[in-house]
Amino acid sequence: MSTLLLHHHSYLEHLTPLGHPERPDRIRAIDRILENERFQPLAREQAPLGTMEDIARAHPMTYVDALHNMAPEEGLVRLDTDTTMSPGTWEAALRAVGGACLAVDEVVEKKVSNAFSASRPPGHHAERTRAMGFCFFNNAAIAARHAQAVHGLDRVAIVDFDVHHGNGTQDIFWNDPSVMYCSTHQMPLYPGSGAANETGEADNIVNVPLAAGDDGAVFQEAVETAILPRLEDFAPDLIVISAGFDAHARDPLGALNLVEADFAWATRALMDVANRTADGRVVSVLEGGYDLEGLARSVAAHVMTLMTG
Ligand SMILES: [Zn+2]
Repeated sequence: MSTLLLHHHSYLEHLTPLGHPERPDRIRAIDRILENERFQPLAREQAPLGTMEDIARAHPMTYVDALHNMAPEEGLVRLDTDTTMSPGTWEAALRAVGGACLAVDEVVEKKVSNAFSASRPPGHHAERTRAMGFCFFNNAAIAARHAQAVHGLDRVAIVDFDVHHGNGTQDIFWNDPSVMYCSTHQMPLYPGSGAANETGEADNIVNVPLAAGDDGAVFQEAVETAILPRLEDFAPDLIVISAGFDAHARDPLGALNLVEADFAWATRALMDVANRTADGRVVSVLEGGYDLEGLARSVAAHVMTLMTG
């Protein structure tokens, strides 16, 4: 079976102010590297529009409607200091949700072995009722709840190696013992949450903060000692990866020193857990990554690893 790549041209139409790091060129850089012939075996599909039913599993409709009403017909609307909507944002955000959910469908139905959704806007900072940090809908959270509601999976783990803490994912699952959220992230750094003592009401949150300057050896040690054993114990039926690549050494927003091989290693380690507990089911959704070269090379390493099955 192949690895599924979800993409859509609308991801280029979510515009941000000049100089903003979360920009359409991120998707162009990923598209360009995945055109290489070594990625020819990928199954490629267009991301569909996410449904309100899917979104409502993570965000109240009052929030969704308010967001929709803020979408501009022209120009940019600023929701906070770094989160803006353009006329193309609404469709891109819906398709980022739809891509993540279709990825779950095809993986669970065994049409593909695993999947990567190369979407923007990202999602892990989006809380139940708040867009922030370039994020509007929490794609990984919605995908996890979709897997439970539509496919009847019991336990889902979301593993997040973005350099920033996924405060939104933590917020959504804080008191949900059926979803484990594990995150490595630089601390202190935006958004400020993610201390090791933030463990959730059901002890289902595993935060592993790293310090500025930490490299791949520290990262791998942290994942091996603090995350993989918890995942094994939890025995998820599906692993969703919040795949942010801004912990790369080249990234302008973070100060960790990971390289492509570290992302490949983490991908393999999570696939190994999934092979033991989740019948191999892994769905990965793009979060951050703002140095175009570091992002493209890291995505390539991540996807190449997924393709090894
Ligand atoms: Zn990030």
